[in-house]
Amino acid sequence: MTTRPAPVIVWFRQDLRLADNPALDHAVRTGRPLIPVYILDDGPAVRRIGAASRWWLDGSLRALDADLRRRGAQLVLRRGDSEAELRRLIAETGADTVFMNRRFEPDAFLHDADIAHALTADGVECHGYNGALLARPGAVRTGSGGPYRVFTPFLKALLEAAAPPAPMPAPAAVEAVSRLASGSLDDWALRPTTPDWAGGFDWTPGEAGAATALAAFVGRGLKTYSKGRDHPAEPSVSRLSPHLHWGEIHPWRAVETARRAASNGHVAPAEAEKFVAELGWRDFSAQLLHHFPQMTDTAFRPGYDLMPWRDDPDGLEAWKRGRTGYPIIDAGMRQLWTTGWMHNRVRMIVASFLVKDLLIDWRAGEAWFWDTLVDADLASNVQNWQWVAGSGADASPWFRIFNPVTQGQKFDADGRYVRRWVPELARLPDRWLHAPWTAPAEVLRAAGVRLDRGGYPAPIVDHAAARDRALQALRALPATGD
Ligand code: FAD
Repeated sequence: MTTRPAPVIVWFRQDLRLADNPALDHAVRTGRPLIPVYILDDGPAVRRIGAASRWWLDGSLRALDADLRRRGAQLVLRRGDSEAELRRLIAETGADTVFMNRRFEPDAFLHDADIAHALTADGVECHGYNGALLARPGAVRTGSGGPYRVFTPFLKALLEAAAPPAPMPAPAAVEAVSRLASGSLDDWALRPTTPDWAGGFDWTPGEAGAATALAAFVGRGLKTYSKGRDHPAEPSVSRLSPHLHWGEIHPWRAVETARRAASNGHVAPAEAEKFVAELGWRDFSAQLLHHFPQMTDTAFRPGYDLMPWRDDPDGLEAWKRGRTGYPIIDAGMRQLWTTGWMHNRVRMIVASFLVKDLLIDWRAGEAWFWDTLVDADLASNVQNWQWVAGSGADASPWFRIFNPVTQGQKFDADGRYVRRWVPELARLPDRWLHAPWTAPAEVLRAAGVRLDRGGYPAPIVDHAAARDRALQALRALPATGD
């Protein structure tokens, strides 16, 4: 009598794709039946997925399940404590191996390691891979063996040391264990209903959506990426961030596609390399957080934790709702709320406004972004907030305080971005668009703009005074070095 080989589990997490997926590839190579599973674990071990990201997750899991079904399998959905659910699945099926792509955020990394140790102790093999980053954190080190704290040498070393993995096509067919109990995404209710605040989200989560976004970007925005990426009204950026966060595409595929466009003469090499450098910031953020896990809660440069942050619930609320009276800030915050995403240039301006003009703790902004971004990513979010705040590694100096009016005039000179997201200012001429309170009364009247509580708000702070206040607070800090 022949005994059936034990099945193997593929534990999907932030790697919701079939191609270039090392865990899946290794599992398929065993030749044994697979159990593809996603476990929704809202336990305390890792930070709870934010609301906009849950919206994305719903779509991405549906897409992954459909892709598996086309290959003869299906995604098993389980909800609860990850280790307990894996053990239950092992008991149900006799599976003896778990394949997973590692998560590198510190809490998730430790949690996964604990689970792997516990299962291994009980005779279950666990295999982990890097399917998320250009290089695993720790693979690229300084001459003295430590982690990089400065981006430019990190990028140089990364691109010298790391090489793209060989392509791993999606398997043509997946032999899977059938008839396993599975939860239902409808029951999980990851998307909001009453009210459906995500009605304006216009995204296609999933591996096919990621490929389409990359192809569209390489065909258009990449040509003028280095300059165009600073102008939020231009379609010059890839909008790949949520796809990358959820692992719907391997970052090396994005690098290779951009470089191929350059070698085919479709775009200038410098444009492709600028895009590669931005992907490098993603790796830089991940390796920083991996090596300095306290960064999620405390300033990378400890002196900054002595900033006299203001308790200003009204200011914070005005910022969140896009009612600060500064059009570029309000446009960005409304774009975020309506679409689950904000252009990078505007992320920098709104973050600077919160931290420096309002003197509100960067952690409050980071938390709001975490909940409202479809690309919310612990490493990138924390690293960038600390970068803007001046407290991070290789950060923007604290004394560089963005002026929201001149930033708007410079990067949204024709006002297309502000007019789209702040329609009550649409008829205001360019000259006053980024500072409506400076417009003569008759200009405001002709444009139908009222600067009051019922209309568009007057500025909630005076930028020049706020700037002085911020600089004074900074100078009073005892030490701001690292
Ligand atoms: P592109 O310009 O097309 O860049 C390609 C890819 O490179 C991006 O998808 C992203 O993966 C990576 N990238 C680009 N810029 C950065 C950067 N500064 N840091 C890290 N990776 C980068 N990005 C997130 O993915 N998640 C976040 O939670 C996040 N929070 C941020 C918070 C603040 C305050 C700021 C200033 C930036 C934040 N970013 C975050 C970085 C950046 O704004 C987004 O990655 C970018 O806007 C995504 O749009 P895109 O895919 O069109 O970018």
